[in-house]
Amino acid sequence: MAEEKQLDCPSAPHQHPEARLLGVVLEEEGAPRVSYVEKGVDLPEDFDAEQLGVDPGHALRFAAPCANKGCGQWKEGGCGLGREIIKRLQPVVDVAPACTLRATCRWFAENGTASCLRCPQIVTRRKKSDAVSPHVHATPSPVGPPDRRERVTA
Ligand code: SF4
Repeated sequence: MAEEKQLDCPSAPHQHPEARLLGVVLEEEGAPRVSYVEKGVDLPEDFDAEQLGVDPGHALRFAAPCANKGCGQWKEGGCGLGREIIKRLQPVVDVAPACTLRATCRWFAENGTASCLRCPQIVTRRKKSDAVSPHVHATPSPVGPPDRRERVTA
C-alpha cells in the first residue's frame, strides 16, 4: 500500500518543534487579514515568539506537519477544523492568495480553493475580545500533536 503524503497544518501552534512561519496577521477594517510570507522567508534562528509582546497565536500564522489522528481537530478521517471553516465562514478574497504551503496544505488538499478564499481571516488563537466576532475562527482546541498540546495548555 502506498504511503500517504505527509500534509501540513496551516494553523499550527508556534511552539511546535517544526513550526515555520506562514504569514503575519494584519488588520483590515477591524478584521484580521493574513499576509502570507514569500518562499524562503523565515524567522531568525534566535527568534523567541514569547518575546513578541503579543500572543504569537494572534500575530502570526505557522505551519507544521499535520498530526493526523493525533490532533484534537481530527474528525471523520480528516481535518474537522478545515471543514468547519468552509461551513461557517464566507470568502474574504476573490482569488486564492499566493501561499507557499499549497502543495502540502491539509485544508487545501481536502477542500481545495474554497479553503484558500477563507484562509486569510483565520487566526490560530482568538483574542477574548473577538469572542463574538463572526469574522474570526476560534479553534475549539489547540491544533497540533499531543505533546505540543500539553505544552500549550500548561
Ligand atoms: S488554505 Fe490555501 S491559503 Fe491557506 S494555508 Fe492552505 S494553501 Fe495556503
